[in-house]
Amino acid sequence: MKKIAIDIGHGEDTYNRTGSKGVPGLEEHHFNAAVGIELKKQLEFNGFEVFYTQPPYQKDVGLQFRTELANKKNADLFFSIHADANSDKNVEGHWAFYWHTSAEGKHLAQFLNEEMNRLIGTPPIGSGIKACLPNVSWPNFHVIRETNMVAVLHEHDFMTSRNGLKRLQSNSFRLQSAKANARAICRYFNVTYKEPTQSDYENHWAKQSIEKAINKGVMKGYGDGLFKPDQLLTRAELATVLDNLQLLD
Ligand SMILES: [Zn+2]
Repeated sequence: MKKIAIDIGHGEDTYNRTGSKGVPGLEEHHFNAAVGIELKKQLEFNGFEVFYTQPPYQKDVGLQFRTELANKKNADLFFSIHADANSDKNVEGHWAFYWHTSAEGKHLAQFLNEEMNRLIGTPPIGSGIKACLPNVSWPNFHVIRETNMVAVLHEHDFMTSRNGLKRLQSNSFRLQSAKANARAICRYFNVTYKEPTQSDYENHWAKQSIEKAINKGVMKGYGDGLFKPDQLLTRAELATVLDNLQLLD
C-alpha cells in the first residue's frame, strides 16, 4: 500500500499570529485544510495509506518537523497544499512546484497541471509547473528540498486576485481541487481513480452547518480529518463554542 504524506500549508494560528498567509475573507490554512481533508478521504477510498505532516485546524508545526516526519515514516509521496499571493492583483491560476533534479516530481507536477486544466479550467501560471532550485531565495521550498521521496507543492489559486479569492472560498472549487489532486496522484501510481461513493459525509444533514461553524472558527475540526457529526460535546468544548460566539460577554 502506497503511503501519502499530506502537508496542509501553515497552521490555524499562522494568519492571526503573523498577518500573512491570508487576506481579509480567507485564511490560507482554512482553504488548505478543507482540500486536505477531502483529499485524504479520496485517497483512502482509492486504497492509499495517508497521514498528515501538518494536521488541519491545528497550530503550525514547523517545516523541519514536517519533512522529518515524512522521511521517518517513509512516505512514498509528499503533497503540500497551498494558496498563493501576489502584489499584482491580476495574477490568478494554479501551478505546481517540484525539485529541479526530480524527473518523478516533474511528472507528478505535470499530471496536477493537466487535471486542474481539465477539471477546473483556471489558467495555469506559465506552463503550470515550476522547478525549485538550490541557492536561490525563491522558488526553493524547504518541504520540496528536504523530503526523500517524490514531492510537490501545489498552489491552487491566488488569494490576492478577486476571482481567485472567490474560487478559493467556494466549496465546489475546494472539492474539485481535491479531486484533481487525487486523480493526479492515482495517475502517478498507475491506479485507476474511483470517485468516492456518497458517504455519510456528503449526505449528513448537518454537514453545511458544521463546515460553516469550523470556517468561522466557532468550532474545531478534527485533527485526523474525520467527520464526526454525532460526537458529543464536553462542557469545556461547549463553553468554548459559546465564548467563540461571544455569547458569554
Ligand atoms: Zn502557503
